[in-house]
Amino acid sequence: MSRIAIVSAMHPELAAVLAWLPQAQTQVVAGREFVLARWHGQEVVAVLSRIGKVAAATTATVLIERFDVQQVLFTGVAGGLAPQAQVGDVVVANAFLQHDMDASPLFPRYEVPWYGRTHFATDAVLTAALARAAQTALASGVLDAQAAAELGLGTARVQAGLIVSGDRFVSTLAESQRLQQALPEALAVEMEGAAVAQVCHDYGVPFAALRTISDRADDAAHADFLKFVERVASRYSAEILERFFAQRAA
Ligand code: SAH
Repeated sequence: MSRIAIVSAMHPELAAVLAWLPQAQTQVVAGREFVLARWHGQEVVAVLSRIGKVAAATTATVLIERFDVQQVLFTGVAGGLAPQAQVGDVVVANAFLQHDMDASPLFPRYEVPWYGRTHFATDAVLTAALARAAQTALASGVLDAQAAAELGLGTARVQAGLIVSGDRFVSTLAESQRLQQALPEALAVEMEGAAVAQVCHDYGVPFAALRTISDRADDAAHADFLKFVERVASRYSAEILERFFAQRAA
């Protein structure tokens, strides 16, 4: 039977996912704890990737080589770059790019050397299923009204587009504006997705990723990020995945 990987970058997110998975078994590889369980009958393995591209790439490689996963899902938070990606919105990635990849003038800016590409697409079918699950979860009011009011959130939307990754927590307006100008189609910025996308590309394993916008990658990003992760992000991921696996089982 096929096995699906669920990868999160941070503890609170994974903890919320694990709350849905009683009777899980764990196995430690490369210092990471891989949690094996079933979700609506589907075999899953959930793991904390840790933060940054290298940590995420190691995690993805172990998942494929040691746990024989046939699909990889990433859930987490990201900074909003495009004006329409506001805190509380959910972004489903249709492609990833490494915003800190620069082997110019040998290769064009952002191109990963020898791959002949800057963008790594996610799997269209898996991505559509994740977007549907996110729509269903948001429509059912995952976010409690009190938290929404406290954090000043508007009505959350699900958007699909480019997410960019790099080994930097983008937390100044100047840097987020530079990124927006250089990569106007980028909806959000985070630190792991493009690495997992590249590993999955290498192995031909379908990959999809979902990120809730936790901050606007500006001068307030640090404070916004912490508040958001504590209050809402983890619930989002777990509730959306619950719909995702329920839909698959239906
Ligand atoms: N204080 C945290 C560190 C979080 S780093 C801790 O100790 O656990 C930020 C994480 O959220 C990364 O996993 C990254 O993918 C994502 N992220 C959220 N907002 C971001 C931003 N503005 N820039 C880059 N990554 C961001």
